[in-house]
Amino acid sequence: MGITKVIAEGKGKRIYATDNPDEAVVYFKDEAIAFRGLKIGRIIGKGEINNLLCEYIFTLLQQKGIPNHFLHRINDRSMLVLRVDIIPVVIKVRNIVAGSLAQRIGYPEGARLKNTVIEYCLKDKTIDDPLVNQTHITAMGIATAQELRAMEEISLKVNSILTDILSDINIELIDFKLEFGRFHGDVLLSDEISPDTCRFWDASTHEPLDIDRFRRDLGDVEGAYREVLHSMTGYVLKNSEDNTDEIR
Ligand code: 5GP
Repeated sequence: MGITKVIAEGKGKRIYATDNPDEAVVYFKDEAIAFRGLKIGRIIGKGEINNLLCEYIFTLLQQKGIPNHFLHRINDRSMLVLRVDIIPVVIKVRNIVAGSLAQRIGYPEGARLKNTVIEYCLKDKTIDDPLVNQTHITAMGIATAQELRAMEEISLKVNSILTDILSDINIELIDFKLEFGRFHGDVLLSDEISPDTCRFWDASTHEPLDIDRFRRDLGDVEGAYREVLHSMTGYVLKNSEDNTDEIR
């Protein structure tokens, strides 16, 4: 497998094409960005932790019958995935009120919801990833109603599997975002599932164990990421060095 060129770069990852048109390499960075680029920092070891967590979670989901883009981990910061065409819609799944939902509906963070909330946002930074509904998405030709049904069904299954395994380790799954892609006619779960894309709260103290620690200056961001990795996988990360965020 040879890397050919960078095909996409986001806040936490860089995606490379390979000489196999059906495969891509995801490289996880330590860089952290919040508030539309106004806050930039580094979380030392984040790239390694998110890579290990994605391997663990995507493998678990495959075992539970949820196909996804993950093929295998290549090294400490990279994984090989199926090269999907990303559908430019983000699905947010919410169990407990937090973040933008708290602001939108005026409920306090931590308030329980009577049912799981599913939201759709366009993936378009130039218009601040607006919240849309299913009829906007089908009207714009971004995804079909059938694709949206598949995405929603997978999202709810992911929610139930992750909620269960996290509750066993005393972590509450508050909310998360998922992305999907098309691969030879199928809709596949893609992107990443990590403390960069989920809200994980310590179930006893309600302390965030995720990227909100960085967004809100809560301190010990690295410690929280390491704790999630260790509780979920049993893996203890060796001291990670500050990384150049360049692929090796
Ligand atoms: P909210 O809409 O409350 O800001 O976010 C809901 C969930 O989606 C949270 O778990 C949050 O971390 C995740 N999320 C929202 N926007 C982004 C984003 O731009 N990048 C990433 N990685 N996660 C996001």
